[in-house]
Amino acid sequence: MKIAVVGAGISGLSIGQLLRANHDVTLFEADSRPGGLVKCDRVDGHLFHRTGGHVFNTRRPEVLDFFWSFFDREREFVKADRNSVVSMSDGAIVPYPIENHVYYLSDDVLRGFIADLLAINAQRDGTEPQNFEQFLQGRFGRTLYELYFRPYNEKIWRRDLKRVPLSWLEGKLPMPTVDEMLFNNIRKVEERQFVHSTFYYAKNGGSQLIADRLSDGLDIECNHPVCTLQRMADGSWMVDGRRFDRVVFCGNIKSLPAILGDGLSADATARIDALESHGTTSVLCEIDENPYSWVYLPSRDHLSHRIICTGNFSATNRAAGKMSAVVEFTDFMSETEIREQLQRIPFHPRYVTHNFERYTYPVQDAATRLFVRQLRDVLGEKGLYLCGRFAEWEYYNMDVAMASAIELSKRI
Ligand SMILES: Cc1cc2nc3c(=O)[nH]c(=O)nc-3n(C[C@H](O)[C@H](O)[C@H](O)COP(=O)(O)OP(=O)(O)OC[C@H]3O[C@@H](n4cnc5c(N)ncnc54)[C@H](O)[C@@H]3O)c2cc1C
Repeated sequence: MKIAVVGAGISGLSIGQLLRANHDVTLFEADSRPGGLVKCDRVDGHLFHRTGGHVFNTRRPEVLDFFWSFFDREREFVKADRNSVVSMSDGAIVPYPIENHVYYLSDDVLRGFIADLLAINAQRDGTEPQNFEQFLQGRFGRTLYELYFRPYNEKIWRRDLKRVPLSWLEGKLPMPTVDEMLFNNIRKVEERQFVHSTFYYAKNGGSQLIADRLSDGLDIECNHPVCTLQRMADGSWMVDGRRFDRVVFCGNIKSLPAILGDGLSADATARIDALESHGTTSVLCEIDENPYSWVYLPSRDHLSHRIICTGNFSATNRAAGKMSAVVEFTDFMSETEIREQLQRIPFHPRYVTHNFERYTYPVQDAATRLFVRQLRDVLGEKGLYLCGRFAEWEYYNMDVAMASAIELSKRI
């Protein structure tokens, strides 16, 4: 079949690779190069992850097989330990995850935490939390909630945590039990001892290497934002006037009503228009030497929620003799605001450059997932498939985006 893929981010590149052996595949990419959110630039000698600081890990065997078929694992990647910390408002550095290291905090906090855990244990009545606030309080207790989980998550999600449904974060939430938290604190269990505590990272080029390699051998038309998708009477699709048998849409579902013209119902269009999301301002900085991979920032003194110490992921990420990192803010920040904020952030970040990406975090309410899945099924029956973080409006990491592409390739 002739298949058009709209969008050459990780999802589009993955489905392109999976289909190209048996089909005639053309990718259309709005930007001047493929990669979507994982693109990197070299600025003043530092590797700049234009969004976040992408690392790779997964527990999905089919994704591991797919991913490693493109790389020489030993030669091209490092396997690194997560060495993350929470930098508290008073300057204390506490290893991550905080609930296993409460013994680093004051006696009062530790006493409050133990009392909370005992109360949680006594109150086990089978009631399920209905929102993120209830989940966090019910799992970790009020003391840690007020000290860390609440201020940290409010900075990321920029909303009352009661308005964050749990379905949004499914599979991403830590689920330690009271017994595990007590044991981990008493035994002083380190993050490095957990299964998810390592990740892979390219020795050269960071996640740009992933985008480049997944692009190899694909027919990609860059600088081509697809503007019209039109279904023909014979079931084929016209993509900006060119005929295809199938279309895989890996762009943003919000642009579908305009691209499809009158192809969507008024109700579906209204619901798509109402979908909410966040953007991210990623600031490349030179920063004090430190041994960490991620530094989480619950402090209310500034607006950043984390520092990603990309300079520590690979030696080639840094300019000679300098350490670099990405300081992250939710939503748009001007350079003036950024420079002012950086003065209040630990490790003395010094501004190099920044990038604002408008669509980084899809926000779901309790009805979003069902609505998008139903729409995906209806369009899929017509040969237009939705695949990807913003096409499916799901909080996908790269591995889950690849898993979605693998699943779709089997159906096609
Ligand atoms: C801050 C942050 C940190 C992250 N860190 C990690 C991490 O460490 N590890 C991890 O595994 N994942 C991480 N992720 C998730 C990861 O970025 C995504 O899973 C992945 O990049 C999604 O790829 P995608 O192709 O679905 O979407 P995108 O990357 O958004 O790609 C969509 C592409 O479609 C193009 N497009 C859109 N509309 C059109 C159109 N009409 N015509 C043509 N082209 C179009 C866009 O230009 C873009 O290139 C992170 C995400 C964020 C926001």
